[in-house]
Amino acid sequence: MRELQMVDLKSQYNKIKEEVAFSIFECIEDATFINGPQVKSFAQNLSEYLGVKSVVPCGNGTDALQIAMMALDLQPGDEVIVPSFTYIATAEVICLLGLIPVMVDVDPFTFNIDVKELEKAITPKTRAIVPVHLFGQSVPMEEIMTIANKYGIYVIEDTAQAIGAKYTFSDGRTTSVGSIGHIGCTSFFPSKNLGCYGDGGAIFTNDLELGAKIRMIANHGQERKYVHKCIGVNSRLDSLQAAVLNVKLKYLNEYAEARYRAAAYYSKSLKGIEGIVTPIEVPFSTHVYHQYTLITMDGRRDELKLFLENNNVPSMIYYPIPLFEQDAFQGKGIKVGNLPVTTELCKSVISLPMHTELSIDQQDYIVERIRDFFKNT
Ligand SMILES: *Cc1c(COP(=O)(O)O)cnc(C)c1O
Repeated sequence: MRELQMVDLKSQYNKIKEEVAFSIFECIEDATFINGPQVKSFAQNLSEYLGVKSVVPCGNGTDALQIAMMALDLQPGDEVIVPSFTYIATAEVICLLGLIPVMVDVDPFTFNIDVKELEKAITPKTRAIVPVHLFGQSVPMEEIMTIANKYGIYVIEDTAQAIGAKYTFSDGRTTSVGSIGHIGCTSFFPSKNLGCYGDGGAIFTNDLELGAKIRMIANHGQERKYVHKCIGVNSRLDSLQAAVLNVKLKYLNEYAEARYRAAAYYSKSLKGIEGIVTPIEVPFSTHVYHQYTLITMDGRRDELKLFLENNNVPSMIYYPIPLFEQDAFQGKGIKVGNLPVTTELCKSVISLPMHTELSIDQQDYIVERIRDFFKNT
């Protein structure tokens, strides 16, 4: 059996080696390292894949979120609603821009923002909501858009963990997550579902005017060469990373299928083990399983993690500390309601190895060790 890893990027690379080498070589031969044709073609390919009008590649997913908020002209003191159970980047950029993160609790089974709690958190100062499609499954976007439209609030989708997931509207229409809100943001960090070989990110929108503004902000607020309309940032996707992404985007649907197969096999094999809850799939979204995350009962999560570690099964805790308890946010004026679900999830979730190259024997081994734990202890 191949050694277990949370993410096996090397085995994935081995299958696309020649194509990647060719694409990278072409870029180096051209010596078009910044804003080369690879970046333009990738933006075009991604916009076709997602069905959005404008794609602006940028340096990473955190920059994508920051640029999105800058493009919406959010002002210091404005409130931005985020889920309390997410990666820090989502809320960090809000503070950086002098905005106020308002943290809302999540659903105990889908891990995504609780829409009822969200509406309660809206005040006259609320300017934006950042739904995070956590672990690979969409937030109830239709309900979020209804609330956002009712109050005149922007929606910035954080699609860093769910690129490729499809949302189905109640009228049967299907679309890519990240294309529903006013702006979508994603990350191409190597371990993400569409990962490059370094840092990368992108911002997308169907509003062409907004798209032009996003492009300008990502490039020093520059409208034309040496004409700067506003304060921007320097955030670019390298041509070499775009060259890698142009290859990997072609496989993204296959990768999503491989992840889905692995998740289905885990869920089937783990059935009947008392003490854990396997992931829930909602009817309105496909699940691209960025993470396969179990909920453990009876406060035995850390014990299970240690047991797995001792049996050479890696696992990770996404996320061990609620955002509002992080030192970074203390004294930052964050608004926090009652967040019992987040507090509980941080103590009870555990993510198993999940990637495109998991084999049945590896999964059998992992499942058997989990069975051992609950049988023997
Ligand atoms: C990875 C991630 C980000 C940040 O992406 P980087 O490219 O690492 O900056 C933002 N939000 C979520 C939910 C993420 O998982």
